[in-house]
Amino acid sequence: MKKLVILGAGTGGTILANTLSAKLDPRVWSIVVIDKAKEHYYQPGFLFLPFKLYGYENKEDVTQPITRHLPQGVRFLNAEIKLIDHKNKTVETSEGDYDYDWLIIALGCDARASEVEGLPEAIGKNAFMYYTVEDALAMQKALDAFTDGRLIMNIADMPIKCPVTPIEYVFLADYYFTLKGIRDRVEISLVTPLTGAFTKPLASKALMNIAEEKGIKIVPNFAVSGVDHEKRVLTSFSGEKVEYDFLASIPPNLGPDVIEESGLGNGMGYAVTDERTLKSRKADNIYVLGDCTNVPTSKAGSVAHFEAEIVEANFLRELDGKEPLPDFDGHSNCFIESGYHKALLFDFNYDTEPLPGQFPLAVLGPFSLLKETRLNHWGKMAFKYVYWNLLLTGHLPGDPLLPAQMSLSGKDLTDYKPHHHDGGQNK
Ligand SMILES: Cc1cc2nc3c(=O)[nH]c(=O)nc-3n(C[C@H](O)[C@H](O)[C@H](O)COP(=O)(O)OP(=O)(O)OC[C@H]3O[C@@H](n4cnc5c(N)ncnc54)[C@H](O)[C@@H]3O)c2cc1C
Repeated sequence: MKKLVILGAGTGGTILANTLSAKLDPRVWSIVVIDKAKEHYYQPGFLFLPFKLYGYENKEDVTQPITRHLPQGVRFLNAEIKLIDHKNKTVETSEGDYDYDWLIIALGCDARASEVEGLPEAIGKNAFMYYTVEDALAMQKALDAFTDGRLIMNIADMPIKCPVTPIEYVFLADYYFTLKGIRDRVEISLVTPLTGAFTKPLASKALMNIAEEKGIKIVPNFAVSGVDHEKRVLTSFSGEKVEYDFLASIPPNLGPDVIEESGLGNGMGYAVTDERTLKSRKADNIYVLGDCTNVPTSKAGSVAHFEAEIVEANFLRELDGKEPLPDFDGHSNCFIESGYHKALLFDFNYDTEPLPGQFPLAVLGPFSLLKETRLNHWGKMAFKYVYWNLLLTGHLPGDPLLPAQMSLSGKDLTDYKPHHHDGGQNK
């Protein structure tokens, strides 16, 4: 038997377990999926849990068993991955060693509070996070009790998972405190190392305008060096200080230690990956996708989904003795909630920043790009159903509905300046 081992049963790993098990002959291939967790989280819901908005209140609203989404014929191993010995094509786990012919790595990334001085001591007192279900629920409790003062959302460093969540967070905070009737008693600021609300200029401008309308302050170019929870102050490396009463923190996001310790990483736990073919640049017979790559696009579920299509096609090509194709264009697509049942939509890739215009989508669409609409909000709400029922199981038709490669169709090209990506890798 030939062995395909998939590391991680999150978005990327689950999609590929489904699509590849449908393509590979079970008489020839065995497929094992390894994950230390037993539960799969719908992570976009973590953003709503702190505010108890749009039907997200409890752990059950974002959680399902991993095995519910894996197909029959795929073996699930609930174990911690300790080392990828790529020279001997073996994965060492807490439940024993597994050798492979081909390996797919989809191990995600984590927010690490320990990377910011003073943050671990502040967590649970006046600082909170929302990148895990437990943290999001702890923040929910703290927000329930918060009645007035300065609420700061701070991004410590880039890259982070889903880089639009901090701006969504401050927009939703504005909506939440308005619903609670205490908006006039809360100052809301986004304190960010970026030059604005987002990494790309046109989108950043659109988001900054909305922030201004909502009375949300943006403090740019702030590289946090530490948190003092007793004095309630954030300090930057250049000595600036920002005072807070409630800190919503996104600490540095790092890839899994096992990637680094196995010699596959870029120094931050992100696997060094060819940004077009999605093959590991450090070892043979390995593909990488999702948040744990170092490819210079957003760390988002939509990206993991588009990458899964490219990995599937390239892996099958290699089994046929063909070269993998450089087909991944960095496509990312995300809804940005702005409160009051409205959202924006961004669609971009390595070369094209988010542009205004329309995003054609059969039946539901078209959605408006870079503009707040109710339809975009309902698109985001519907996505939870799509995620659990179509996307994970590999039943969401890509082309022509949601193609892996970005299309310029519907986009307003007036301010379009093609940026030819030089192939450099992000941090
Ligand atoms: C607050 C928030 C909001 C978001 N909103 C959106 C959104 O609106 N739209 C969007 O597209 N994306 C969004 N995302 C991002 C999206 O959830 C991720 O990009 C996506 O889940 C990445 O998939 P993945 O397969 O790379 O990693 P994951 O889905 O995180 O899966 C990684 C898996 O690897 C396992 N693992 C890690 N290390 C080990 C180990 N050593 N041993 C065994 N198992 C291990 C983990 O247990 C996990 O199951 C959001 C994320 C967050 C946190």
